[in-house]
Amino acid sequence: MSMCPEEHPPSAFGAPFDDDDADVILRSSDKVDFYVYRSILSKASPVFKIMFSLRQPSGTSKNQHSVVDLTEKGSVVAALLMSIYPAVSLSTEPKTFADAIAVLMAAQKYDMATVFRNDASLRIIRENPVEAFCALYSPHQDMGEAACKAAKASLEHPLELDAIGDKLKYTNGYALHRLWKYHRACSEAAIVPISTTDLSWITPEQSDLRELVYTRGVSTHRNSNCDLHLVAVGGKTWQWNTLWLSYMERARAAVGKRPCGEAVSHPDVLKPSYVFTKCRGCHNSILGLMEFSHYLEEEIDRRVSKVQL
Ligand SMILES: [Zn+2]
Repeated sequence: MSMCPEEHPPSAFGAPFDDDDADVILRSSDKVDFYVYRSILSKASPVFKIMFSLRQPSGTSKNQHSVVDLTEKGSVVAALLMSIYPAVSLSTEPKTFADAIAVLMAAQKYDMATVFRNDASLRIIRENPVEAFCALYSPHQDMGEAACKAAKASLEHPLELDAIGDKLKYTNGYALHRLWKYHRACSEAAIVPISTTDLSWITPEQSDLRELVYTRGVSTHRNSNCDLHLVAVGGKTWQWNTLWLSYMERARAAVGKRPCGEAVSHPDVLKPSYVFTKCRGCHNSILGLMEFSHYLEEEIDRRVSKVQL
């Protein structure tokens, strides 16, 4: 039940939601009125479209506008409407992180796909993918486009409580568990090509890459001072350059935490292999490592993109 209207009269939000010929009022939970057009809402939201076609809104205002009571507060409704209103020059940026998450949840609830494509929403999803995913995921619904985007963006971050920190209150167990399972599956897919015994992902057509691996990574030069590592592959022995080998170990650990291609070309993973060496063979070997990491990055992204959410 609403409070006594004499004590808490609704206030109008004002421009740009104050048109005289508007045909419906959206009233926020904190009693802010937005004078808007049904046609615009219907175009942006299948939920409003059905609502307007099925029944009259719950109340009417003094000057006979229909009123739709919303559970979202005024600042959230404003950000939501500015995202779908044509020719609105005001910022669509939510003022607080809590509002930004509430806007994503409202856009999901009202099925407003365009909201997920504006810069403010994309930035929130990109920078806070775990919290955004939790706001957008429901175990009872199909995964929407925005939730998929958030899940994919989350792969660039470690899924650890320390990383979520004080934003833990914006998460929930169902969604975190779903995301955790996705991360594990992506890590398993990402680690496969980071192998010193199985390079079957490199096809015969990739001659540049084969050249890189077999003439630089798998070193055949002989120098008793060089630190080379023997790896048995089938009936043959490969002589891996240890600087490559240590890179592979760091790369495997990296995709265990962040299952994305960028993890293996990150300076923290590459740099320790770039040590001074007097041996020309080892020096040449390392010159090829960065290029190899980019091939590996592409292969990992290709594999991870196939993992079902
Ligand atoms: Zn050497």
